[in-house]
Amino acid sequence: MTDAARSAHPALDALAERLGDRLLFPGDPAWDAARAPWNLAIDQHPAAVASPADVAELQELLAAARADGLQLAVQPSGHGASGTLDGAVLVRTGAFDLLEIDPDARVARIGAGVQMGRVLEALAGTGLVAMSGSSAVVNATAFTLNGGHAWFARSFGFGSSSLRAVELLTADGRHRWLRDADAPELLWALRGAGGAFGVVTAIEVDLHEAPVLTGGRLVFDGADAAAVLRATVAAGRTAPETLALHATAVRIPDVPEAPAELRGKSFVSVESVELGDSPSARDALDRIRGAGTVIADTWGAIDAPALTAIAEEPTDPSPGFGWSALADLDEASVDRLVAAWQSPEGRPVMGLALRVLGGALAQPPPRPAIAGAVSEAHIVSAHAMGVPALAEPAARAFEALDAALGVAGSDRTLCTFLAPGAGYSGAYAESDVARAARIKVTVDPENVFRGNRDFA
Ligand SMILES: Cc1cc2nc3c(=O)[nH]c(=O)nc-3n(C[C@H](O)[C@H](O)[C@H](O)COP(=O)(O)OP(=O)(O)OC[C@H]3O[C@@H](n4cnc5c(N)ncnc54)[C@H](O)[C@@H]3O)c2cc1C
Repeated sequence: MTDAARSAHPALDALAERLGDRLLFPGDPAWDAARAPWNLAIDQHPAAVASPADVAELQELLAAARADGLQLAVQPSGHGASGTLDGAVLVRTGAFDLLEIDPDARVARIGAGVQMGRVLEALAGTGLVAMSGSSAVVNATAFTLNGGHAWFARSFGFGSSSLRAVELLTADGRHRWLRDADAPELLWALRGAGGAFGVVTAIEVDLHEAPVLTGGRLVFDGADAAAVLRATVAAGRTAPETLALHATAVRIPDVPEAPAELRGKSFVSVESVELGDSPSARDALDRIRGAGTVIADTWGAIDAPALTAIAEEPTDPSPGFGWSALADLDEASVDRLVAAWQSPEGRPVMGLALRVLGGALAQPPPRPAIAGAVSEAHIVSAHAMGVPALAEPAARAFEALDAALGVAGSDRTLCTFLAPGAGYSGAYAESDVARAARIKVTVDPENVFRGNRDFA
């Protein structure tokens, strides 16, 4: 740490004497690695990076940050990194590694540092699943607080709907478990817009029965993209709510950053999971298989840990640009999207994806939550490599996809799909965002905690 950096934060400096490399400042040799988010396209510059070892250190950190006029911004890993973090202490939660599974009560207590992959590993052989998305390296608490979209969303709603309780450090320095009966308004806001009310050190979530679980990936040649995406939309109209359907058209860009053997290649895949093994789900998949030439098919019986392997998503940090929108797709809008993706303007887009929504997502959530019912039947998303040369071309390509969606699209998306810098009103009704903002003022009147999204 440089003297200049130290002098700006006397209380943090004093704490740093004891915390050592658990509290880093600009100038430290490990600084750039410590401040980097998972999405390396975001260049964030916090005032310090803290990795508290326990609740007592977290409370000391809160007191020191307040004394120095700084905010705390919790970011377990930073898939959802969204801003600069100027004037904030970035808090890493890796030390909060609690993981307790109670199979009889169908409840898990999960520390704020635990990734989804570890939760699912612990559920192997139990016949139970947690609300998990497609990646092992997403933080379970972050996923839940942001209303994550899980494989089982059509059966049980957003990840936040399975949130029973939080263990929270609030701005007044208190640290305790809170349930709906203790703080109904706060729990409502934490179920989907949960980053700015305090530091959540653990969550308690429902586990769901999954005595039989099937899933896998169908891979087709990229030339089948339009037919496979159309077939997925068609199958989604009648598929049982137990079936999750995602489809992704991928084209590896011809840039030096991409692996040489993959540059310029394209394929389309359908990732699916069923809570069960029903004839109607198998029929839906057979109809999708018929849409093109299947070059790989991994569908079959799986156990909970396999849920994060299906989509073969990257596990190492990388730079990415993204776009997404809720939509009600039909065959014509799918064709327009694929045509825009295949046009010269669409070239920077590496992946064009859709997920079938509906089912429990279209119903009021089982527990009061800002992440409420979504009427649209699909979410469409696109991503590009987040390298500087692609920034402007990717932005133009995303605009072209948006235009291709036309009236099928909406101006909202899911919270975990929001682009960097977007506020909560990109995902939720303005009246609900205003309600969350009022709760924020009540719980954190001095605005000590900074989430990754504004209440705007
Ligand atoms: C490969 C990949 C696959 C993905 N798949 C899915 C998917 O299937 N479904 C889906 O919905 N999303 C998915 N996502 C998006 C991901 O769920 C979101 O970005 C989400 O924000 C969690 O990311 P993270 O674990 O890196 O959390 P971070 O980005 O580190 O945290 C996000 C925000 O949550 C808040 N927060 C986190 N922890 C705490 C805490 N302990 N206390 C208080 N606030 C906290 C903070 O405001 C923080 O900035 C995926 C992302 C990637 C990169």
